[in-house]
Amino acid sequence: MSDYRVLLTEEEIPRYWYNIQADMPNLPPPPLHPGTGQPVGPQDLAAIFPTELIRQEMSRERWIEIPEEVREIYRLWRPTPLHRAFRLEKALNTPARIYYKYEGTSPAGSHKLNTAAAQAYYNKKEGVRRLTTETGAGQWGSALAMACRFFGLDCTVYMVKVSYYQKPYRRVLMETFGAEVLPSPSERTAAGRRILEEHPDSPGSLGIAISEAVEDAATHGDTNYSLGSVLNHVLLHQTVVGLEAKAQMEKVDAYPDVVVGCVGGGSNYAGLAFPFVHDRLVNGTRTRFVAVEPTACPTLTRGKLAYDHGDVAGLTPLLYMYTLGKDFVPPGIHAGGLRYHGDAPLLCQLVYDGIVEPVACNQRPVFEAAALFARTEGIVPAPEAAHAVRAVIDEALRCREAGEARTILFNLSGHGYLDLAAYDAYLQGKLEDYPLPEEELQASLGRLPRVPGAAS
Ligand SMILES: *Cc1c(COP(=O)(O)O)cnc(C)c1O
Repeated sequence: MSDYRVLLTEEEIPRYWYNIQADMPNLPPPPLHPGTGQPVGPQDLAAIFPTELIRQEMSRERWIEIPEEVREIYRLWRPTPLHRAFRLEKALNTPARIYYKYEGTSPAGSHKLNTAAAQAYYNKKEGVRRLTTETGAGQWGSALAMACRFFGLDCTVYMVKVSYYQKPYRRVLMETFGAEVLPSPSERTAAGRRILEEHPDSPGSLGIAISEAVEDAATHGDTNYSLGSVLNHVLLHQTVVGLEAKAQMEKVDAYPDVVVGCVGGGSNYAGLAFPFVHDRLVNGTRTRFVAVEPTACPTLTRGKLAYDHGDVAGLTPLLYMYTLGKDFVPPGIHAGGLRYHGDAPLLCQLVYDGIVEPVACNQRPVFEAAALFARTEGIVPAPEAAHAVRAVIDEALRCREAGEARTILFNLSGHGYLDLAAYDAYLQGKLEDYPLPEEELQASLGRLPRVPGAAS
């Protein structure tokens, strides 16, 4: 079988998600209640999440069945193709074999619909009428808006204000699916009004938008909140990506030496990598795992492993994760989906345990890599996914130096056709790199919450 484009049949859409909590040698310390500092229990989360997602969040079962109603939505675009990047390999003159799993074929344009569909389904099943969420660049908002429409739920999206005005097409997409989209900070919530009083011109941030969406859900009985990354259940839902990739590589007798992906909150990377991390933890395979982030928001490479809030107002539980501090406002790089101060606790634990290696890339070389990818493979990567492309090309060039034919697998988490303004800036030479100054980082880390009894 040729490995240009390895396809699976509809029947081969996975029937179970893989829960890495069953196999990790060390689990991260539990989330803490923001008021009491005690570990959160299911009842603390019940105000904003459905029971089944809370159960998945805490589950240590290895395989969790995918409901047929969710698989039916997956059939709209899954299984996604696995491509061999022959033309990129040739352009780099590398002996490396480069494979990518392309999640941009989803109707929302990224991997995010994998969890949006599951979250909308469980909420509908438990009688919820409306979901709230935040969105930065708009990818998560459009995925959730679409999933809510499929399951007959209303959807309110707090969109970071600067993106709301800079990226009108994502807003229009969300509104087309019937969602209400508000620029955040907004007058709708106490958290938003407080920020607007102090900073009437605030451009907003993901941390602020999360505060608004959580407050909206917590203060309305028929409304829940939905998060597009970071939490255990979100990473769980994304494992369909890696499970399919594994089956596809088997079909062409290949297995990755290196698995690469970009990291905003960690979900697309975990989705691809965790089924292969399983093999390393359980069967002792030697695969390397490389997680790529922007130098402008270097959570895994320079952040501190500590308890921190997920939002600015401090409404969310404290998560034990690498963090830059909850009020850290990253510079306006074009990979909006990678501008988050924290990362998924499960991924952070694997970094801490030396199983996943983090690297950081500047945005100019990232776009240079993305342009080469577009010119050889014909797909314009999302600016987030372009970070993975950069690291893959660097690895392939090292293979050329060493004369080693390593097999590289990466997640092309989404397409960039609604991010062409970023490519325009790149092509006009207007992109800037933003190395984060050490003083700024230390100042932000100095404001981390003090947690009674925590070892940080
Ligand atoms: C949101 C997004 C990301 C970053 O989020 P993760 O949870 O780290 O996956 C990466 N790529 C694309 C295309 C996205 O939309």
